[in-house]
Amino acid sequence: ALRQLSARGGPSWGASGGFGHAQAPAAVLSTGRLPGWRAAAAAQGQAQQRRWLSSSGKDGEDGRDGKSAPPGLMTKIFEGFRGKGAEAEGGGSGRGKSGPEAADSAGSENALVPSGPETKHHKVFVVELQRKPLFPGIYTPVMVNKSERLIKEIMEVKKQGAQAYVGAFLVKDPKDPKDPKANDPRSGKPDAVPAATGGAASAASAHGGEVDVDIGKQLLDAADPASKLYETGTFAQVHTILTGDTPDSAQLLLLGHRRIKRTSTLSSDPLRVRIQHLRDEPYSSTDILKATSMEIVNTMRDLLQLNPLYGEQFRTLLSLTGSIDLQDMSRLVDAAASLTSADETRLQRILETLDVPERASEVLMLLKKEVELCKLQQDIREQVEGKIMKEQRRMLLMEQLKSIKKELGLERDDKSALLSKFQERWDAKKDSAPPDALRVVDEEMAKLGGLEPASPEFNITRTYLDWLTALPWGRYSDEIFDIVHAKEVLDADHFGLEDVKDRILEFIAVGRLRGSAQGKILCLVGPPGVGKTSIGRSIAATLHRKYFRFSVGGLYDVAEIKGHRRTYVGAMPGKLVQCLKQTGTSNPLVLIDEVDKLGRGHSGDPASALLELLDPEQNSGFLDHYLDVPIDLSKVLFMCTANTLDTIPGPLLDRMEVIRLSGYTSDEKRAIARRYLEPAASEDAGVPRGAAQLTDDAMTALIDEYCREAGVRNLKKHLEKVYRKVALQLVKRPEELHIHEGRPSDAVKDAGSPAAGDANDSSRDAFANTTPAAGTTTTPAAGKPAEEP
Ligand code: ADP
Repeated sequence: ALRQLSARGGPSWGASGGFGHAQAPAAVLSTGRLPGWRAAAAAQGQAQQRRWLSSSGKDGEDGRDGKSAPPGLMTKIFEGFRGKGAEAEGGGSGRGKSGPEAADSAGSENALVPSGPETKHHKVFVVELQRKPLFPGIYTPVMVNKSERLIKEIMEVKKQGAQAYVGAFLVKDPKDPKDPKANDPRSGKPDAVPAATGGAASAASAHGGEVDVDIGKQLLDAADPASKLYETGTFAQVHTILTGDTPDSAQLLLLGHRRIKRTSTLSSDPLRVRIQHLRDEPYSSTDILKATSMEIVNTMRDLLQLNPLYGEQFRTLLSLTGSIDLQDMSRLVDAAASLTSADETRLQRILETLDVPERASEVLMLLKKEVELCKLQQDIREQVEGKIMKEQRRMLLMEQLKSIKKELGLERDDKSALLSKFQERWDAKKDSAPPDALRVVDEEMAKLGGLEPASPEFNITRTYLDWLTALPWGRYSDEIFDIVHAKEVLDADHFGLEDVKDRILEFIAVGRLRGSAQGKILCLVGPPGVGKTSIGRSIAATLHRKYFRFSVGGLYDVAEIKGHRRTYVGAMPGKLVQCLKQTGTSNPLVLIDEVDKLGRGHSGDPASALLELLDPEQNSGFLDHYLDVPIDLSKVLFMCTANTLDTIPGPLLDRMEVIRLSGYTSDEKRAIARRYLEPAASEDAGVPRGAAQLTDDAMTALIDEYCREAGVRNLKKHLEKVYRKVALQLVKRPEELHIHEGRPSDAVKDAGSPAAGDANDSSRDAFANTTPAAGTTTTPAAGKPAEEP
């Protein structure tokens, strides 16, 4: 930090003790940060140190800045402030003696800077300062460039073993409003002279005689190479010179001694000027001044607390102020001024101020400003730190939340987890997916990645991607084209229905010859209960296809078939897309039930939508509103059922292959009942196989008298009813179950006998009499139930 400060020419400083000896290198407070100089300073000042130490008699007593200053040096410094032990040789920078005689106190024991150089040095080489003026008592490093001759001169003096003195002048700030010449951009530039003349000449008419003088001065200034420098500067000792790589550059360590004013220019390269040594104006130590100086010290303490960067220098200075005679305001004020980061013009003005009380109040103001600056800086730092802390805390908590969610398996809302889930699903399918789907999925994935999880758009995209990636996209179930096996399966489930079975076998045969089965639309038309729906499932099993059934009876909303547009809240794809997702294959058997009862919507015709779905010409690129990507339905086997052809819309009917199921004769019904319905009913009721059986007469009566409709659904219901009664009887007398095991006819006889059964039960339900067969039963007519017509 210190190095930084010294680099920017900030509060780097050294406090000079007024030792009253030309050779004394004063306090080298900053040697710690300038090791090169430290060594040089130590070497140079060794002899003197010995002298001071012996003269002060206080060796080693001071440890305040022991690490950077030679032992005992600090003691010397503030002793110098107090004026003790100084080898007074005359004219210092007026150390605040009260009264007019103070100015004449040159040569008193309080002289801060030796008088020797002053008397001898009225002509000095100029060192230009770029950033800040040099204050008396302060060390400052200065870079000198393109000044080969100046460096040579200094080296020359140094070689002779003498101290080199220079005048350090700050280069004028072109923006300094207090400097009239500085506002004139032409000043300091030789080529600006004619223009300056012109400008002044035009002003001449306004200002009369004075103008001529101005013009003369400006011309002079323009020619003077020193005109770019402020007039007030510092008489400085070249403590150390470090030559650089090139002979025209070097680094000087200057120690300010006293204010000076340049009076005339002697030579331009190296720039040499005649100077006049300045002294502080005499001042008296008033209460106000004391208060000001104390306030300066306090403010420095505040600064120290606010900004540790000031630490090293301030602490040293403050430790000194304890012993400084506060009357020696000049030094204290100068040191404090050099510590502030005020701009160069302000500092230059302080340098120019010879009135010490005025200078003190000015410096106090600068220090106060510095405090404010520090506070502001602190505020900003706190704000920034607070923000960073908050951000970091958030990040940390989010990370923790993530890992907790992962642990608990709640990660599904997490965007990246979602994306990877979709990606995984998609990777398994994308090889067989059509290009359209590939493009859309890629787009949607990228979109989802960029969306905020809280936004509604995110949810829409997520659901959409969920659907897109869940569809089978070109995945088919392997079909088995085995006619013998198919026939067996079909016969196992259904009696008769030869037309349908033949059609399915044909379908299989074609599939076998072609190697693949094309989607077809079969329409089974017939009265209820003839097995239209149930055979669909058998066919699916036969063909080894997945089965999906949906009923369009009373359906009036086109969106049920074609899906909603994604923009709607709660939009869903249509039934077909749902079917594909559910079955997971692109070649299921889809049974569309009750196609003759299709409703008619007010905002669209479901029949037309169904047409698009079923039409083999169109359905290879079926476009669902929600999905918005064409899907291929050409491999789907559609089956429709209807009770009548009359109400099926013509265009739809055109595309179907109609198979009529006209209903069963009594014999067929009897066969169906015996082979399929009775065993199923007995099993459903939990009646053991063979525990009961209907007699042929009973069956005939049931079919001819009770179930005369074309289908067998009612017959099935009646048989189930009979077997439920049997089940009840069996449960009422469980021993029957065991005793008559193996002798079904007896069991049924017993179980069904009205004498053996509950009288109330049998009278309440005439079927109890009719069902148990074995000759003992009454005729169905006798027990005809009231509810049956
Ligand atoms: P639909 O759809 O024609 O109204 P279902 O398919 O629902 O009739 O059939 C009603 C019941 O009749 C089903 O349980 C079914 O098993 C049975 N069924 C109909 N026809 C037969 C048949 N030929 N062989 C065996 N059971 C049949």
